[in-house]
Amino acid sequence: MTPRTSASVLLGAASLLVLAACTTPEPAAETTAEPTAPAEVAPIRLEEPPTGQLPADVHPVAYRLDLVTDPHKDSFTGHEEIDISMDGPHARIWLHDLGPDVSSLKAVLPDGTEIVGTITTGVTEDGVSRIDFDTTLPSGAATLVMDFTAPYDRNLAGLYKVEQAGRPYLVTQMEASDARRMFVSFDEPRFKTPYTLTVTAPVGMAIAANGALDSSEDAGNSMTTYHFKTTRPIQSYLVALMVGPYDSVTAAPVPPNDIRGEPVPLRAFAAAGKGSQLTDVLAITPAIIDYQEHYFDYPYPYGKLDLIAAADFAYGAMENAGAIVYREAALLIDEHTSLARRRGIFSTNAHEIAHQWFGDLVTPAWWDDIWLNEAFATWMASKTMNAVDPDGGWKLSPVKSSLNAMPLDSLASTRQIRNPIEKTGDINDAFDSITYQKGASVLNMFETYLGEDAFRDGIRLHMKRHADGNATVDDFMQSLADGSGQPDVVPAFRSYIMQPGIPYLDISLSCPDGGQPGLTITQSRYAPLGSTIDTGAQTWQVPFAAEVHDSTGTHVVRRMLTDKTTEIPLDDGCADWVMPNAGGAGYWRFIADADDAAALRANFTALDAGEQMMLLDSQMAGFNAGKVSTADLMADAQAAMTGAPDTVAQSLGVAGKLHGLLGDEGRTKLAAWVEATYGPAWNALSAKPEADKTDADRLLAPQLWNTLLTYGQRTDERAAMASSAKAYLGIGQDADAAALSPEDLGTAVSIGVRDGGRAFYDGALAYTLASDNQTERSAILYALAGSGSDEDLADLFKRALGDEITGSELYTIYAGAMGNEKGRPAFWQLVKDNFATLVAKMPSVRRPQLARATGNFCTADEVADAETFFKGQADLISGYERSLAQGVEAGTLCATLKEAKSAEVEAAFAE
Ligand SMILES: [Zn+2]
Repeated sequence: MTPRTSASVLLGAASLLVLAACTTPEPAAETTAEPTAPAEVAPIRLEEPPTGQLPADVHPVAYRLDLVTDPHKDSFTGHEEIDISMDGPHARIWLHDLGPDVSSLKAVLPDGTEIVGTITTGVTEDGVSRIDFDTTLPSGAATLVMDFTAPYDRNLAGLYKVEQAGRPYLVTQMEASDARRMFVSFDEPRFKTPYTLTVTAPVGMAIAANGALDSSEDAGNSMTTYHFKTTRPIQSYLVALMVGPYDSVTAAPVPPNDIRGEPVPLRAFAAAGKGSQLTDVLAITPAIIDYQEHYFDYPYPYGKLDLIAAADFAYGAMENAGAIVYREAALLIDEHTSLARRRGIFSTNAHEIAHQWFGDLVTPAWWDDIWLNEAFATWMASKTMNAVDPDGGWKLSPVKSSLNAMPLDSLASTRQIRNPIEKTGDINDAFDSITYQKGASVLNMFETYLGEDAFRDGIRLHMKRHADGNATVDDFMQSLADGSGQPDVVPAFRSYIMQPGIPYLDISLSCPDGGQPGLTITQSRYAPLGSTIDTGAQTWQVPFAAEVHDSTGTHVVRRMLTDKTTEIPLDDGCADWVMPNAGGAGYWRFIADADDAAALRANFTALDAGEQMMLLDSQMAGFNAGKVSTADLMADAQAAMTGAPDTVAQSLGVAGKLHGLLGDEGRTKLAAWVEATYGPAWNALSAKPEADKTDADRLLAPQLWNTLLTYGQRTDERAAMASSAKAYLGIGQDADAAALSPEDLGTAVSIGVRDGGRAFYDGALAYTLASDNQTERSAILYALAGSGSDEDLADLFKRALGDEITGSELYTIYAGAMGNEKGRPAFWQLVKDNFATLVAKMPSVRRPQLARATGNFCTADEVADAETFFKGQADLISGYERSLAQGVEAGTLCATLKEAKSAEVEAAFAE
C-alpha cells in the first residue's frame, strides 16, 4: 500500500507498546464444552473473542464467492463457500464479519452431512464474529456455506461505492482489515488461499478482479455473470473487485523474457472520460515488470495485470494481486500533470508492482512485519526507477527517505520499525513514515553494507524459500544472512528495527603531536530541545562509514560501531577534515565540533549530493537540539547554495524555520536575507538553458520560487502570480489553461487568495467544483485552506460537509486549514463545534489521524486545549492515541524551541 502523497501526507499514528513476544501470541484460554465421549478429543470452544489473532486451529483452505452487484443500488448479495480445515472438533468457530448480514449458514462435511450454524456478528467492534453449530463439527475438513446481503461501504473501505460526475462506481480496498466488510472471512494475512470469484453485474459495465476472466454468460434482467479464474493462494487483504462505467484501455501484453515464457496481459481502467490519461503509466509498466523479474529472478506471479484508478480512494495505491488500485492522482497523467506528480506516479507504480512479489507472493505472517513489506517496496521503487530512468536522479531517493522519516523519529512518541500489533486498532498505526521511509533507508544502509549483489542474492533466496507462503522478519534476516554469507548483518539490522529513534554520533578528530591520530565516536539518541527522550539509554550497531580527507587523498573508513564509544585510528596520518556519513547512506545524525563543521562548510562542493543533504540535516537538527547557533545555521544554508539542486531545495527549510521564530520586524529583515541567499540561485537556475536542466533542476525551480515569493521581497512578482492564477481559474475572464504551469498552481492560488480577497476565493472555488481533475482539485483546495481568511475558511468548511466535496478532499481541507497560521484559531473552533458531522464524512482511515493536527499549535495552552478536546472525542476517532501523542509532542517542542531560540534568532537579524 502507498500512503497518499499530497501535501497532507499520511502521518500515521502508531501505538507505543513495550516489545513482547510478538510472533505468536499466547494460546487463548480454552474451555471445553461437555465431552461427547470419554475417549474423544474435547471439542474446542473458545468462550471469549480473540483480541489479536484468530485461534490457529481452524484455517481456511479455499474461498468461492458468487456475488450479485449493481453500482446503482446500495447493497449487494452473496453466496459464499469457505473450505476449512480443523485441527480438532469444533462447536464454535471464530472469524470476521463486519458488513454481511447472513441469512443462512451451514457446514457441509465431506460425507455430505449438513450442520446448521448460527453466526453472531460483531462480537467485538472490529468485527470478530462467531459461528455456533447445532452439532459439533468433527476434526478435519468442512465447507462453510452461507448466503448474505451487505451494504456497499460509503467511507472507502471494503467493497465501496463512490460517485463521480453523477455515475456510481464500485471498487475495493481491503488492507488492513476491511475484507470482512465485503464477505465473511478469516481476515488475516497468514491465511493464504485460492479465491474463485463469480460476479453478476449490469450488462455493459466494466469489471475486473484478481483472476483473469474465464467466461461470461447472460444472466437475464440486463445482467451478465462473469466467472474469474481461481487465483494463486492470496490473503484476504489482496482480494479485489471493480464494477462500473469505467473507461478501459488494453495495452500490448508485457512480452516474454528469459525469466518468463508467457506474455502478461496488461490493461488499465479509469472513471468514464479519463481513459486517455492512462497512456503514460501503461507505457512504463513493462519496463518495471521486466526489471523486477530480473531482480527477484522470479516471473511475475499473477498471470495478468490490471491498473485501476478508483473514482475516490483513501490511500495512494493498493497492491491487490493482479489488480492494483490507485487514487486518480497516483495513476492519471495529462498535460497538466506536474513533473513531481509524474515522478510520484511512476514511483508508486513501481512500489505496487514490487509488492506483487514482496507482500503478495511472500507475505508477512502478522501485521507486526507489515513494515518490511512497505519498507521493501519503497526501497525497491527507487531502485527500479533508477534502472528504468537512469538520468532521473533516483539514486538520492534513500537519502530523501531518511530525511522524510527523521522528523517523526526525533519524537519520544515515535515507534520502533517493527512494533507489536496486539489489536486491530494498532494495525493502521503501522502505515507511517517510520515504516515506509525509515524502513527503506535502513534497507538501503544494509544493502550498502553487504554490497548490492550479496543483498540481492539474499532477496532471491527469500522469494524461492517462501513463495505463496508467509515469512517473518526472522525468516528475512536468515535469507539475507544465508544469501549474502554475512551473518553479522543480523544483530546490526535488529538494533535498527527493534528500537526507536535516531543514532546521534558525536564525532571528534584528534591529532596529538607525535601520537596516533584518530576519530572518537560516541553514540547517543538524538533529541530536540525540550524532549523527554533519555538520550543515553540506547546504543545501536551502526554500520559506520566516514569519508576521511588527508594529505594523501580521500579514504572511506568503515567500522561496525557496537559500543557507546569507539576509537578509530587513522593510519594515514591526521585528517584535514572528515565527512561522518559517506555517501549519505547511513541512518544517523552527527554533531561535529565547530572546526569540523567549518571545514565541512568550506569543502561543501567536495561532498556528493547525499553527503551534502545528510550534513545539512545534521546541522538543522543540531539547531533544534540547541547545539548549532543561528549564525552557523544561516552559514550552512549559504554553503548549501554551492551544492546540488536537491541540497538547495532542502535548505529552503531554513527560511521557513527562521520565519516561524521571528516577529514582524525580524521577518522584514529575514526577507532581505532570503533574497541575498536564494535570489542568486534562482537567477542562475533561470539562466540555465532548458536543454541542460535535469529533473532535479526542474523540481527545484518551483520550490525556490515559492520561497522567494513567500518570504522574500517580491511584491510585483506576487501580483503577477496572482493575476496568472486569476487567468488560469477564469476569475473575471475566460479560463486559460496555459496561464500557469502545474508546478506553480499551489503557490499561485495561495498568493491569490491571500492577496486577492473574497472575489478570488469565490472564483477559485467555482473553478474547482466544476473540475473533475482530482489532483488539481486537491492542490487548489489545499492552497485555499492553507492561505484563506477566516471568512473563506468558514465557507469552505460548510461546503466541505456537503455533496460537492469528497470525504478525501475534506481531509485535505482540514490538513491545510490547520496549517494556516492566521486562520487556524477560527477554523479550529468550527472543527470543535461540528466534530461529529466532520467525522461522519471522513474516510475511516483518516479519523484517528485527525488528532495529529494538534502538532500545528505552538503554545502550551493551545496544545492542552486540543489534547483535551480529542480525548473527549475518543469514541469517534478510535485508535487515535499515537496520533494525538505525536501531535501533542510536536506542538510542545515547537513551543519550547520558540521560547529557547526566538531571542537568539531575533538578535541574529538585529545586526
Ligand atoms: Zn506499499
